[in-house]
Amino acid sequence: MPMCIKLARNPVLLSCITLFVFTFFFYVPVSSTSNEKVSAETLELGTYYDILRDPTNNITIDDLISGQYDTSFTASTEKYLSIFHTDDTIWLRLNADEIIQDKEQLYWLEYNDKIEFLTVYSVKEDGSYDLQESGLYNLEEQSVNYPSFLFSMDDPSIKEIYLKLDGQLPLTIFTKLYSNNSFIENVVSYKFYSGSFYGFLLALSLYNLFLYFSFKERSYLYYTLYMFSFMLFQGTMNSFDVELLGHVLPAWLLTKTLALSCNIMIVFMILFGKEFLELKQHLPKSNRLLNMAIVISILSTIGLFSGFSQYYSDLFITTFSLFVLIFLWISGFRLLWKGHKSARFYMLGWSVLLGSMIIQALVMLDILPLTLAVFEEIPAYSAMFESLILSLALVDKISLIIKENQQTQEELNETLEKKVLERTIQLERIQIELEHLANTDRLTQIPNRVLLDHVLDREFERAAKEGLPFSIVLIDIDYFKNVNDTFGHQIGDYVLVEAAKLFKSSVNGSDTLGRWGGEEFLVICPSTTLEEALQLAEKTREKLADYHFVDVGKKTASFGVASYIPGDTPNTIISRCDNALYKAKEKGRNRVEFIKMMNDEKNLG
Ligand code: GH3
Ligand code: MG
Ligand code: MG
Repeated sequence: MPMCIKLARNPVLLSCITLFVFTFFFYVPVSSTSNEKVSAETLELGTYYDILRDPTNNITIDDLISGQYDTSFTASTEKYLSIFHTDDTIWLRLNADEIIQDKEQLYWLEYNDKIEFLTVYSVKEDGSYDLQESGLYNLEEQSVNYPSFLFSMDDPSIKEIYLKLDGQLPLTIFTKLYSNNSFIENVVSYKFYSGSFYGFLLALSLYNLFLYFSFKERSYLYYTLYMFSFMLFQGTMNSFDVELLGHVLPAWLLTKTLALSCNIMIVFMILFGKEFLELKQHLPKSNRLLNMAIVISILSTIGLFSGFSQYYSDLFITTFSLFVLIFLWISGFRLLWKGHKSARFYMLGWSVLLGSMIIQALVMLDILPLTLAVFEEIPAYSAMFESLILSLALVDKISLIIKENQQTQEELNETLEKKVLERTIQLERIQIELEHLANTDRLTQIPNRVLLDHVLDREFERAAKEGLPFSIVLIDIDYFKNVNDTFGHQIGDYVLVEAAKLFKSSVNGSDTLGRWGGEEFLVICPSTTLEEALQLAEKTREKLADYHFVDVGKKTASFGVASYIPGDTPNTIISRCDNALYKAKEKGRNRVEFIKMMNDEKNLG
């Protein structure tokens, strides 16, 4: 089964198989008909006929034998006679001497088309005659089940043969005379031909039915139904209904089977076309028109059985089916034009079928000559080609659908990946922002105490590991409370912000300046000795003392400095620095003080 599906998904491989099958099918019938021996003993009777049309329907065989109508007969010039619909009785006359080579032998006259009443008179030398009745209304006279009407010729004294044709059905007269041997050979090749043809169509239908069951794609089901209805139509066209059901079905029904099966085929043809081209979605107007066509088909089927004239119902069905076919072709063309790739094989198949229908129409309009091929071989082969191509079209469509799905899946994955990336970047940004918020003082936009604690811990680690010195500077603005009290809290905020900016511009790039709390700031200076830190503090103090705050004027600050000594903890170094600051305040503010060792503290106060 996976092999089958693989095959089913490969249009190129299937096209090759199609070509191969076609070469075979074209070769077999051509080679069998070109067999010299058969054609020598098979005579196409068209040009041997003399024709008499009797509009009165009253002329009898006796009138003809008497010779009174001899001048009314006209010689046929056509190999195949097409009279189509007529109310006249048609008489065809054959000269036995012209067509029968050996009167001692058995010959078979075959009349190929469906007809209601057909009588064959074999007139002998002495003026007496035998008659054989056949046609759809006399099927019981034919002892063998056969798709065409057969008449035996085995009387040595036979002189003339008359065929009397009556009924409402269109008359397309394909008649042949076979010697007994060539008849048997013909039957054998006919059985082989029809067996191959219908076997091929049946296999194709079943294959697609199987594909329907595995893919669950409805087009396959409609295709199968269309194929079955096509086989039904082609079967009635080849008179299988007469051969297989001739003795079961009533004659009036047999006269309507062709129109009936044509209507059924049109319905399934439309259903398949609609489904395959997804007309409901792509061409809703055409879809509605085709729905109407289905209704018309059903109504015309009802009309068929309610006593309408055969002529008009045949004419209607022929034109209607041609119209539907052209419409389906145009729909496919429009979709192809719109860029629906899946319509390409559909168009190819449909074009072939349409081409054969147009040839038939041109023959009926007498623009092209009538040959047996027009009604038998061309439609059969074109339909066979069409059904194969449509089967390919289905394969092509499925593989297109699979490709499209893969593409959208890939696109979806791509956009999904892109989105995930965008979200990740967004999240990272948010995280950075959050971290910034968590570590930054809202007012001054410099690191807050949380970050200062972190940096201090890190410096302790580095100092312990690498033995590097580091120092800290604690800054406290002098008499800051006065600013708030004199100018208000907002001006106090402004002074804090400005002071932070000033301190920041004063410290080194590797230093961390943060707000320790209130009007106190802490500077952490990595790889910095006490002396260097004292210089930094002094420089900063001077900078502030020189700075002019709008409204407020001059402000000063006191500075406490401490350096790391082995054995320190964050608490001890901060506490030393705090004490140094206290010392600076004590000594009159606006100055820098330091405490070198623990015992220096004891010197305080
Ligand atoms: P000293 O020279 O002894 O340091 O005197 P001081 O007034 O600066 O010290 P004190 O501790 O008495 O007062 C600090 C004042 O700082 C008290 C508080 O109102 C003010 N303060 C603390 N944080 C802020 C703030 O964010 N904005 C404003 N405008 N004022 C603040
Ligand atoms: Mg203070
Ligand atoms: Mg203060």
